[in-house]
Parts: sequence; C-alpha cells; structure tokens
Amino acid sequence: MSDAWKGVSRARKCPICQHEDWCGYWTPEDYGGELICCQRDKEKCNMIGSDGQEYVFIGSAKGSGSSIYEERTQYELLRKKKTGMNYSHISKPQKRELKPVDQIVPKNNENCSSIYTYMQNLLILDPAHKAYLHSQGWTDELIEKHHIVSFPEEDSLRVKYHNRYRTRNITRARLADLILQKFGSNSLEGIPGAYLKGEQWTFAGPSGLVFPMYDLDGNTFRLRIRKDFSDIDATVITSGQDRFYYAEGKKYFISMKGVYFVTPGGEKEFLPQKGKYRTLASYYQDSQAATRGILANIYKKGCAAANQCSFYGLPFAKTSSLWYITEGEPKGLFASNALSTPVVTLPGVNSYSLILDDGVLSQMKELGMKMVVVAFDADKLHNERVLSCEKSLADGLKAAGIPVVIANWKEENGKGIDDLLASGGAPQYCIY
Ligand SMILES: [Zn+2]
Repeated sequence: MSDAWKGVSRARKCPICQHEDWCGYWTPEDYGGELICCQRDKEKCNMIGSDGQEYVFIGSAKGSGSSIYEERTQYELLRKKKTGMNYSHISKPQKRELKPVDQIVPKNNENCSSIYTYMQNLLILDPAHKAYLHSQGWTDELIEKHHIVSFPEEDSLRVKYHNRYRTRNITRARLADLILQKFGSNSLEGIPGAYLKGEQWTFAGPSGLVFPMYDLDGNTFRLRIRKDFSDIDATVITSGQDRFYYAEGKKYFISMKGVYFVTPGGEKEFLPQKGKYRTLASYYQDSQAATRGILANIYKKGCAAANQCSFYGLPFAKTSSLWYITEGEPKGLFASNALSTPVVTLPGVNSYSLILDDGVLSQMKELGMKMVVVAFDADKLHNERVLSCEKSLADGLKAAGIPVVIANWKEENGKGIDDLLASGGAPQYCIY
C-alpha cells in the first residue's frame, strides 16, 4: 500500500464533487483502506456519491479543510481501526490554474429560447416516453403545454445499429441543419448542446425526454434531458415491452430507471449511473490539454450550461405570494400545474445557493413572492445530505427575511412532490 496521493482523473472522478481534478484518493499505510479527499465539498456530511456508493464523512484534513470520505462498507469493516486517526499528514494537492482557450459563451436567454423552442417543434415524443410520462401521472394536456419531446440517440449509433431504432425522430445532424436554415449559419454557436463535428453542426448530450427550463421571463433558456439509457453502444433487442442487449455473455435490460441485470435470485441489479438528468450542453473539459495547463473543450464550438434554477407556473406569479422550491425540473412542471403555484426548481439539492443568490431572490420578491415552501424529496428522512441542504436553504431564506414552510410527507406516499400529488396526496406543512 502507498501513502501517496492518487489524483482523481477522467477515468476515476471524485465521487463527492464529480470533478476530475484537484481531489484525490489516498491509502494511508497505517489505515488499511482507501480514503477520498474532496477539495470542493462544503457539505461535510454522509452522502451518496456520483458512483452510487454511500460515503461516510470522516472529517476535515488539518490545515487544508478538505473533506475526507470513506465508502460505507469499508468504513463499517475498518471502524475499529479508525479510532485515533488524524489526518495532519495529508498534503494538500495544488490547484492548477488553467488558461482558457476558445471558450464559447452561451447566447442570451431570448436567443436560446428561439432555438430550443424550434427544436421542440421539430422533435416528436416517442410512444415509449409518452407511456412513461402517463405512468408518472402526466396528462396529454400537460405534455403538450410544455412541448415535452424525445431527444434522439447519437447519429453514429443510428448508423452503426440501423435495425434497432423505431424512433420517428429526425437525426441530430438534420435537426441542426433545419435550425441553421431557419436562423442562419451562425445561429448554433453559443447554444449549449450544439457543436461542430468536422464541418457539420450537430448536438451532444444523452438521449431521453426533453423538459424545458424557463427563466423568470418565460424563456426556454435551457433544455433538461431525462436520460432513457438507450444510447448504448450495442445491438439492442426489442421484445414486447422489454429492451435488452448482451455484453460479456450477460443480458442487460434497459429501463427508464437505468440499465440492470437480473441476479440468479431474481433481483434487479442496476448498474451504477451518474444521475438521470443532464442539462443539454456541449462541453467536456479536455484532460489532455489540462496536463499542458490549458482549459479546452473537446466539443468544437460547443459551450457549457452552468447549473441554474428554473421557474414554472409563472402565469400565476403575479397573484401568488406563496412559491414552492423543489429539486428536479419535471417535478416543478408537474407541481406548478397541480398546485397552480409558481415552483422554482434546483437542478440538485446541493445547488440551493442558486436561489439564495441576491439577484434571484429580489426578482422573485418583485414578482410577488412573500413566502416559500421547501418541498424536497421524502427520502430526506434517511438522506442526511438532502436534509442538510434543506436546512441550509431554509436558513438562507429566513436570513433574507422570507418566511419558510417545510413540506413533509411519508415516503410510501411518493418520493417527490410530483409523485405525492399524482397519487392525490397532500403534504403536511410545518413552519420553519
Ligand atoms: Zn471532490
């Protein structure tokens, strides 16, 4: 075993902050197990990592304040040995400043909205996706109101496995062509998701369901994709309701929940995945360039989409003083419709500071917001991270002079506020 640092990499990212630099893995000689040192973490509490594993917060490294985490199973095994450990000899890796090259800034929200709205008109909703939405309580009316469509698999997969697709959607390259024809040859530069593949504009991002992200003026400023896990580089077989493929002699099923195989005991075992949602973007940091001190994007002329919150149900904003906050765009769309109330959504519970941003809060106040209901998922009861984020958000809102109410419900009645409302339930409200 080595006492040295292994920096995180593209192949093995930091499970805490999901970045591929600055953080590290570390196997102290006197410890007998691997620890993770995250240099960006601010939560400092137990969490589910981006690899799906559970991580226990061990402590902060002396001097640097970096967070030390340990995978739960290993932690349980080594708990006894751990007593008396100190982390004073952890050296802090140096953060390297990279020189940005060819960074494309996203166009303004109005511009993005014209393009994305046109995209929604060009794409169709695959029947399987429609069936999924129906199963989640979505009506056709709600689907049409927000132009929920399907984002097709990468064109290269369609070419390679030409028999596997049933989608009537156009290809990504065709989608880009039609946009360029309507909006001009320069229209896709600065639209997150679009990039140049050779000389041809096309789109990056996973296949799946497309949900609009609205800003406070109602612009569809970004698109959020709920992955359908269909963009697998293998021959996919469809048989009745089942979709599956073979890899290394094993049969894998594709579902909206993820890719799984069935154990000999008959249990579904899901492959680890990094979240179900992505904001459509065409940015991936070039790790080769980073070793030369350069910050570059592997997608030519592509651009990033920063984490931002979305605002749903805004026609009601002028008359409603009560606003909900939840995590996840489909929840916001669904709940704002069911409650006839504005709902602000965070892309993830960790990003609550997006709402506490002074500009966002004062704009919400201008639109009539006087009180906030925080409605995070019911799993907060056993997910310390969700609970800790809920507290930080509520404290921040209170500090800004906004009364806060917490919505609670039993997990058996639905995980998210959308599930709860779809099943006819209502939360219990608790003044914070
Ligand atoms: Zn990290």
